[in-house]
Amino acid sequence: MLSKNELIKNNQVLKQVSEIKEVLWLNPNLAPYQEASKIINMDLSAIDDAERRLKKFAPLIEILFPETKSSHGIIESPLKEIPNMKEQLNSFYSSKISGNLLLKMDSHLAIAGSVKARGGIYEVLKYAETLALDNNMISENDDYAILAEKKYRDFFNQYKIQVGSTGNLGLSIGITSAALGFKVAVHMSADAKQWKKDLLRSKGAEVVEYDSDFSKAVEEGRRMSDKDPMSYFVDDENSMNLFLGYSVAARRLKKQLDELNVKVDDDHPLFVYLPCGVGGAPGGITYGLKSVYGDNVHCFFVEPTHSPCMLAGMATGLHNDVCVQDIGIDGKTHADGLAVGRPSKLVGKMMDHVLGGIFTIDDYKLYDNMRLLHDSEKIDIEPSACAAFEGAVKFEKSDEGKEYIIKHKLENKMKNASHIAWATGGSLVPEEINIQFLETHL
Ligand SMILES: *Cc1c(COP(=O)(O)O)cnc(C)c1O
Repeated sequence: MLSKNELIKNNQVLKQVSEIKEVLWLNPNLAPYQEASKIINMDLSAIDDAERRLKKFAPLIEILFPETKSSHGIIESPLKEIPNMKEQLNSFYSSKISGNLLLKMDSHLAIAGSVKARGGIYEVLKYAETLALDNNMISENDDYAILAEKKYRDFFNQYKIQVGSTGNLGLSIGITSAALGFKVAVHMSADAKQWKKDLLRSKGAEVVEYDSDFSKAVEEGRRMSDKDPMSYFVDDENSMNLFLGYSVAARRLKKQLDELNVKVDDDHPLFVYLPCGVGGAPGGITYGLKSVYGDNVHCFFVEPTHSPCMLAGMATGLHNDVCVQDIGIDGKTHADGLAVGRPSKLVGKMMDHVLGGIFTIDDYKLYDNMRLLHDSEKIDIEPSACAAFEGAVKFEKSDEGKEYIIKHKLENKMKNASHIAWATGGSLVPEEINIQFLETHL
């Protein structure tokens, strides 16, 4: 058994990573989907179950959040072709992105304005359902819209939900919990932006601030919650519910791709680039996508060069036993949503045989990409979300990407490829802060 230091030292890619260089790490354990799904014991009925539950709660969501009226309480984001952005990226970075480029706009998801609207809201709804069923307040056959009534709000108000967050998960959990009537405390790391704290407080959530990183906020949040028998802790590092909430995205995406006449099959590969923090959101989405498209979808995460925790965890196999500080990196990044120093073990293990690889990106490019998208498509997303474009730009340009293409016999198929940049957040960013971002040059 090699020691942690030996595992780190023996890894060529980690050497570059520790020098804060941009890399594409290819996952050596990626296996054909048939094999992989057996190894990780993929349980598709769990995704069905999550999808059903979200449908069941839709009438309640529609009442609590009138902005979801047009979609009848289903929280889903647009998928948009962005040909002008593709052109802009190609000219700015001298890249040649084959096929078409699309933007999955979780930045514009209702309620939380980020990908966290998927996992976070699902987790709170599941908890509320469990409480109400266990206490004989509802039965499975009820119309869950009744949960908006005062009687239930008073019931939920006896309970408290707590979460540790860099910002967006706190928004998602905080807003949803408060809307249902729960008491809620959000433990925010130093990276969390002031406007997110202000917004949460305005919704009635308690915000506890830490001047340390995400792991500390989680640890403290968990400690406070464990002391209180009426408190439930949302565990971003280990929650299967969060993970499943994210996974539902995939089937809905398939419908959207079908509607746009975008083919995904043996001759039409799909590449998906997902910004990664602790791993839950990109991991859950990847899990779902693999279950829909198998070997025809190629999923890659993107992390900041200063906080590549999932890369460190997966490349060494150490998962949550390693943090970025162990490889000499400070974990400080402008990508607040990705500022996580230690990865989720649950997710790392789930991804071991299905993830294509992980890119890292320099912070200054987040702002360049933000401006390119703003100018070319008139869409604003937050800096963390802009990490996704690094995948599209570098995949075909880098030696590692070329190696991947040859290994998977994709050379003749790239002209038919579709690339999805997963825009993970942004629509709640206040206008004056959005302007500051657009003017930031690092
Ligand atoms: C949380 C977040 C991510 C990554 O999600 P994880 O579950 O932490 O990996 C990506 N982008 C944004 C904007 C986020 O808020």
